[in-house]
Amino acid sequence: MQKKKSVEKRTKGADTWEYSNILLIFTGIFVLMIGYLVHFQVVKSRDTINNPYNARLETFEQRVIRGSILAADGQLLAYTRVEEDGTETRIYPFGCTFSHVLGYSGYGRTGIEDLGHFQLVTFNAYFIEKFINELKEQKDIGDTLVTTLDVDLQTAAHDALGDQKGAVVVLEPSTGNVRALVSKPDYDPGEVASEWSELSSSGDSVLLNRALQGLYPPGSTFKTITLLEYLREHQFRDEDYSFLCEGKVSVGNSSISCYHGSRHGELDLKLAFAKSCNSAFADMGRSFHVPSFKNLVEQLLFNSDLPLDFPYSKSSFQLKASDPEALHMMTAIGQGDTLVTPMHMAMLMSAIANDGVLMKPRFLDRTESYTGAMVVEKYPTEEYGAIMTAEEAEALQDYLRAVVEEGTASALQSDRYTAAGKTGTAEYSSDKNKSHAWFIGYVSGDKPDLVVCVIMEGAGSGSEYAVPVAKRVFEAYYAEE
Ligand SMILES: [Zn+2]
Repeated sequence: MQKKKSVEKRTKGADTWEYSNILLIFTGIFVLMIGYLVHFQVVKSRDTINNPYNARLETFEQRVIRGSILAADGQLLAYTRVEEDGTETRIYPFGCTFSHVLGYSGYGRTGIEDLGHFQLVTFNAYFIEKFINELKEQKDIGDTLVTTLDVDLQTAAHDALGDQKGAVVVLEPSTGNVRALVSKPDYDPGEVASEWSELSSSGDSVLLNRALQGLYPPGSTFKTITLLEYLREHQFRDEDYSFLCEGKVSVGNSSISCYHGSRHGELDLKLAFAKSCNSAFADMGRSFHVPSFKNLVEQLLFNSDLPLDFPYSKSSFQLKASDPEALHMMTAIGQGDTLVTPMHMAMLMSAIANDGVLMKPRFLDRTESYTGAMVVEKYPTEEYGAIMTAEEAEALQDYLRAVVEEGTASALQSDRYTAAGKTGTAEYSSDKNKSHAWFIGYVSGDKPDLVVCVIMEGAGSGSEYAVPVAKRVFEAYYAEE
């Protein structure tokens, strides 16, 4: 009896040993499988799905109905309508208003449709719903993207630009949130497939996103940078500056004139900036230490990559100490060989308004399951870093306010907000009567600061054409609850 008992005990012990080992092995395999699945779902699939040449993409599109894109306040910007026969149509309720920023999908992909493609064809819901869909052989509905875009601001910018070729970028400096982004001419994203040959062959480059890819001479908006270089080279002692404007400055056999030949007379630095005196700034340009000037411009992200998730063009700046004096002077007033994108100028203004710190432009706020019940991923705001010191930014803020108080942007005076900014009238051809109208600036008040950058191709002066567009966006912002 006793012997049997001990045998039983031993056997039981062996069983337990085997059990726990087998359990361990199975658990191990299970953990590895989960790990692989998670890795595949999260890491590998994001790359494979985003690769347009990957066959998995097709599988996903066959299994998942493309998700919706929402404005920051929840209004629908894009969704997929499914007909009774199963035909799927991508619907853009605002038509051409959001065209370049939303982009299109189905005939290639651009804009947010491209940026958020992975999320839009990925389905996150509670397991039971996935299981039921599987049983019913029903397609899953892709996740919803909530953007940072504001319908009122986008509509205001879109309408204000009218039929004018150009772009408007609206950013929130403290977060980098892109509140509006317009490029004209535009198109209806829902009609891209049917109008492809016309759109792609248009001489107006309809499909080009001018806000991010259009390269323009900055004109007098660049004086903001020239001013900063002057302040740096003179240890911020602007009280020592004075200039007598006689309407033009000559060098060799070329001369640089003030806008419409205005003679600005006796100027201190603030008034020279506010009135956008070409003579004063061209004169300043010939005294600069070129390596420091180039260093500053590159610190402000010229000839450099920008922290942007969208395709964009790089802004360029070239100047050598050995270049002719006339080129130094032209460069200081934003003519010369300098080229910029509207988004870059908006980012520069955004850093100035945010005391020197540039926030990465942010288009997406979060991904939700299609019912909105589950937040799948929240995208944090990201600081790019300080591109100038807080003291430098504050000095520039003061000068930019003077442009509204006593200069070329006085139309932006309001008792509801304080506007600041710089106008530009950029020549771009040998015909001196042709110019792009620019405005870069921001408003402060009892709402978060808001930056607006406007460019209107060939429209004329910044003061006359671009400032009223910015004003309409500022007014729309302050009209919102
Ligand atoms: Zn002048």
